[in-house]
Amino acid sequence: IAATQNALSATGITKRFGGLVALADVDLTVGNGEFVALIGPNGAGKSTLLNVLTGLSAPTAGRIALDGRDVTRLPTHRRIRAGLGRTFQHGRLFPRLSVVENIMTGAANRAGRGEAGLRAHALAQLRRMGLERLADQPISALSYGNRRMVELTRVLACEPRVLLLDEPAAGLNLGEVEDLMARLRAIRAEDRIAVVLIEHNMGMVMRLAERVVVLNFGRKIAEGTPAEVQADPAVLAAYLGE
Ligand code: ADP
Ligand code: MG
Repeated sequence: IAATQNALSATGITKRFGGLVALADVDLTVGNGEFVALIGPNGAGKSTLLNVLTGLSAPTAGRIALDGRDVTRLPTHRRIRAGLGRTFQHGRLFPRLSVVENIMTGAANRAGRGEAGLRAHALAQLRRMGLERLADQPISALSYGNRRMVELTRVLACEPRVLLLDEPAAGLNLGEVEDLMARLRAIRAEDRIAVVLIEHNMGMVMRLAERVVVLNFGRKIAEGTPAEVQADPAVLAAYLGE
């Protein structure tokens, strides 16, 4: 049974903000190691769905399971411990701390490592991302692109089973986007972490995602392979109406 269980399963997620229905009965499943892109026009409800999945925002209705275990009522830190990781659309690093210290504070969620062990683990993660040279720089000294890569390293250091990424390529230059793509491909190939990627860059979505879920006005309007979704008239109409 465990082998067929989804890494993440959200069922019937509805989220209202007063009179606004930000999400209406949305289902989202992600298999073990599956790479799913979540797309849709601005205001479609993508970030809200990530907030609900991580426990930052309580759903008005619906159920969320990680590895088959109901986490709908668990606070965020318990979901992180259960294997959920995310990055934010607008980053959240400690600007005065160094890169390696930021990664250590992220990975401290993982129990059973002392200070030296945490540092070694953080440095190993930085090396994998090709960022070791930045280890002792304060975050405030980094370029925007490097900050985004450090954020990704920070969440990977927590060794998530399910990784939620909210527009990680936003604001990156072309070279940085290629770099990010290469890292995400490696994550997909080597770590088999289940990924939900919110992304506007359709080239990235086409090249990375195994499956694409499309939201519009809080509803799921399409789901399929990147090629299927790109050819879907409902999806084209949603983007034309933006
Ligand atoms: P996306 O990430 O797809 O661009 P969001 O999830 O950020 O869209 O927003 C979906 C809708 O919910 C938008 O209409 C947005 O204004 C609204 N919304 C999001 N967060 C809140 C909030 N905290 N309070 C009120 N409305 C919100
Ligand atoms: Mg958003």
